[in-house]
Amino acid sequence: MLLLCVESSCDETAAAVVRDGRQILSSVVASQVDVHALYGGVVPELASRHHLEAITPVIEQALDEAGVGIADVEGVAVTRGPGLVGALLVGLCAGKALAWARGIPVVGVHHIEGHILAHLLETELAFPFVALAVSGGHTHLYRVDGIGRYRLLGQTLDDAAGEAFDKVAKLLGLGYPGGAVIDRLAAEGNPDAIDFPRPMLKRKNLQFSFSGIKTAVMNHVRGRDELDQKAVRDIAASFQAAVVEVLVRKTLLAAEQEGIDRIVVAGGVACNSGLRRRFADLAGERELQVVFPSPRLCGDNAAMLGVAGDYYLDNGHASGLDCNALPVWPLEQVRVKG
Ligand code: ATP
Ligand code: MG
Ligand code: FE
Repeated sequence: MLLLCVESSCDETAAAVVRDGRQILSSVVASQVDVHALYGGVVPELASRHHLEAITPVIEQALDEAGVGIADVEGVAVTRGPGLVGALLVGLCAGKALAWARGIPVVGVHHIEGHILAHLLETELAFPFVALAVSGGHTHLYRVDGIGRYRLLGQTLDDAAGEAFDKVAKLLGLGYPGGAVIDRLAAEGNPDAIDFPRPMLKRKNLQFSFSGIKTAVMNHVRGRDELDQKAVRDIAASFQAAVVEVLVRKTLLAAEQEGIDRIVVAGGVACNSGLRRRFADLAGERELQVVFPSPRLCGDNAAMLGVAGDYYLDNGHASGLDCNALPVWPLEQVRVKG
């Protein structure tokens, strides 16, 4: 099936054309980061307005780049939630309107479901697997038994890992969003320079907590004169090492507890080079298979919706035109019969 996919849950307006839930024909992402950087975070009202401006040209560009016309599209997959309600509504209304006008089915897909299935656009991986969804709003571990079959194993008690990256970047005067900048600076710093806490690591549960590391960085920085470049690089490297260690250890614990040797790491923070390296090292030692989507599929994009979208439409689980946005939507509530 030739699917048009549309995503607008936060600050990226994205559209993609995906064939049979496996082949990406095009993937267009229009980011609003410059708009929100001025405010040091996403401003919901501005996000909605910019989605409105971008949605039609982005969809047209996705069709153009795929070399198809709207008449060729056989179904629409669109992010239904979770996210900013005003932002979600723009993509959802566009998707439903297109489907209605063309007389084709539409399905509302969970944003995190998109993230944790994105790798299937690039590689084969059998179910079940353990998924670490690590992004701006999530640090969640799931057991994934199939498309539409998710069990929450653990999550953060406070900040998401991406949020911690962004807050620490702001604290260091590195701008917003800061994950990628910290990643780059960390590569040139000493990860052992400062012994930041590894929260929750001693507890053998699957919960995370990142607000303590953020506070430790704040305390370390407070009262110091201007930080020189070496000091900033060392803080970035030491902070990143602490976050990475917690993410990796808890995910390995989840895999061990579930008796599963396949792990998927997804979401914007899965771009992090330190995280990728540490997982690769430990996976090698333990004969685990760890899969990361390529970076363009880690951050927000629409192509990632194609995997679940195709499956749901193929199996008769289209949404009605009354399908509404769900700003809060636990992934476990996505359930497919059979
Ligand atoms: P969610 O997916 O939970 O709804 P979101 O869609 O806003 O949240 P994503 O776009 O998936 O989040 O990811 C964005 C986050 O990823 C930001 O917090 C950003 O700082 C972080 N990030 C991006 N690249 C890197 C990197 N190289 N290292 C660490 N963090 C990164
Ligand atoms: Mg974003
Ligand atoms: Fe996301």
